[in-house]
Order: sequence, then C-alpha cells, then structure tokens
Amino acid sequence: MKIVMLGAPGAGKGTQALNIAKEFGIPHISTGDIFRANIKNQTELGMKAKSYMDKGALVPDDITIGMLLDRIAEKDCENGFVLDGFPRTIPQAESLKAALTLQNTAIDHAVDIEVPDEVITTRMGGRRSCPKCGGTYHVVFNAPKKEGICDNCGSELTQRADDKPETVLERLKTYHEQTQPLIDFYNKEGVLDTVDGTQKPDEVLKCILGALK
Ligand code: AMP
Repeated sequence: MKIVMLGAPGAGKGTQALNIAKEFGIPHISTGDIFRANIKNQTELGMKAKSYMDKGALVPDDITIGMLLDRIAEKDCENGFVLDGFPRTIPQAESLKAALTLQNTAIDHAVDIEVPDEVITTRMGGRRSCPKCGGTYHVVFNAPKKEGICDNCGSELTQRADDKPETVLERLKTYHEQTQPLIDFYNKEGVLDTVDGTQKPDEVLKCILGALK
C-alpha cells in the first residue's frame, strides 16, 4: 500500500502516519524528520534545509525530490510506504507520480486530514515530539503517560523550533499557497480520502483505516 498524507502542519499527519505504518507494517517516511536528522548531524543537506525551515518556508524542490526518491527506492519500501510531509508542491507530486509510473505502480491513497486554521494555531503550541524515536504528542490532546517523557522509548520530549507562533503562521501561509493544490491533484487521480481531523486522534485513525480497507 502506497499512501500519501495531506493536511496543514499540525493537522495530525505525523501521528496518524505512524499509526498507519504500524497497522500495515510499512515504513513511515517523513521528509521533515529526514531534514531534522540531517540538521542534527550537521550534514551539508541539513545546513541547506535549516535556513528554509527556520523561516517556515519549503526546502527547494531540487533538494527535496531527489532525497525522497532515493529513500523510496530502498528495499524496505518494496511493499509500500506512508509519506508524511511529501509531496508539498505540485512538482513534487508530479515527480513522485513519474517515478512510480516507471515501476508500473502509483499512489493508492492520499489521506487529507482537514483541520481549520484556528484549531491548528491552538494545537501547535502544545506539540511535543521525541527526538529519538519520532513519537509525537500534545500536552492536552495526546499527552504522554508521564509528562515530558516518550511512552515508546522513555526519552525526554522536545518542542520543535518551528512551532513558535510566528513561524506557525508562516507555515500555514506556505501550506495554503503551495500544498493545498495537491488535494485537487489527488482528487483528479481518484485516490483522495478526506477525514475530519478535529476529532480525537483514535477517532481520526478509525476513519482513516475505514477509508484504507
Ligand atoms: P514537517 O515536519 O513535515 O512539518 O516539516 C518541517 C519543515 O521541513 C517544513 O516546514 C519545511 O520547511 C521542510 N519540509 C518538510 N517536507 C518538505 C517537503 N516535502 N518540501 C519542502 N520542504 C519540506
């Protein structure tokens, strides 16, 4: 199963992508996580990406597309994958489509998690993530069992630098301008599933699994 997650930053893509990956036994691939790992390891790619990410802008397509296509060419992606945060532009979606078409395959589902902007801005301030295993939480809506500690691996949770209020507004603007058109793109491809992302995380998951099965 090849799945793409759509939705604004903070809509719950990461949380649900991890759930879906577990359910179907396929890798969860987050371009944001790959960039953050590169920043942490101070690679050239990471240094390039950081300047864009800090502003709430998108990393240019020429950097992002090659990186993602290399990742999905790896052996663990043979039976599918969940893409979280890619594609974010029409050229990214076109490149992904072209690469998959060469292998006689295509995206099976594009899951759009819909959440209004006002809800997004309230949510993002409480967002926490695990720097070690990538687990995501929210201090109110999806709290870990022990405050500040990852349920999966026991590491201390952190807040992302780009979850600051001014960057959040910029990321939402970027989303509306560059990423939202993908909803229409995947609708035309006949693979769009729209889910109400204002529900509780387990309800959202139920709706997604219902659409995927
Ligand atoms: P995320 O963790 O998916 O919210 O991504 C964090 C940041 O990484 C975004 O705000 C972008 O700056 C960058 N990024 C992640 N995925 C992409 C992508 N597909 N295209 C361009 N930039 C991306």
